[in-house]
Amino acid sequence: MRRVFSIPHKGAEIKSKAQHMPDTRTHDIITLATGVLLAPATYVLLESSGREYAATGAAVLTGAHLISGLLFSPDLDIDSAIDNRWGVFFWIWRPYMWIIPHRHFWSHSLVIAPLLRLVYFYVVAMLIVIWGAWLLGRIGIGTPDLHAQASAWMFDVMRRNPDMVRLFLFGFISGSAAHTIADWLVTGGRRYLQIAGIRLRDGYRNHDRVSLRRRRLFRR
Ligand SMILES: [Zn+2]
Repeated sequence: MRRVFSIPHKGAEIKSKAQHMPDTRTHDIITLATGVLLAPATYVLLESSGREYAATGAAVLTGAHLISGLLFSPDLDIDSAIDNRWGVFFWIWRPYMWIIPHRHFWSHSLVIAPLLRLVYFYVVAMLIVIWGAWLLGRIGIGTPDLHAQASAWMFDVMRRNPDMVRLFLFGFISGSAAHTIADWLVTGGRRYLQIAGIRLRDGYRNHDRVSLRRRRLFRR
């Protein structure tokens, strides 16, 4: 499905796509690389509490880091390449994309932004469950308070595993922070990186072209 409301000329569209791809890729590589470092580091830090505990903790933290970076990326405020990863559920993030200005505090801050995305996702997921339960109710099956049951079950699991909740949140925040810090470095510290001998590909600079926003809104 592809709907283009304001029709851009083809050349610009292809160019914007070409510029966009490596940027998402760069962020993916950063997410994976930091995840690879975090897994053994977490294991070592938790090892004194037992190997099984350390392995579970490392898996939870690294998993949350990867999920956050790859699926809950800060660029959900603009990038349809990210919400495409949600498959048929891509539309979950459309209101988020419409409401949050690109690279704003609400999407690109270190701690608040990823937590906000979690809360947003939870609210939308609950709305979907409520709607699903209502649909099932109309054909005579299911329970109308399914969302309350699902929430109660989830919060119960969380209450019984507070350590794992903390590790999950830490990983979820670090996965987003790796993205945000990379964005900051590119805009603010590009010169310093070059002094340090690190060269970033030029395409990355176009990462935040706000002018693309309007066009991308309705595109799939
Ligand atoms: Zn970004």
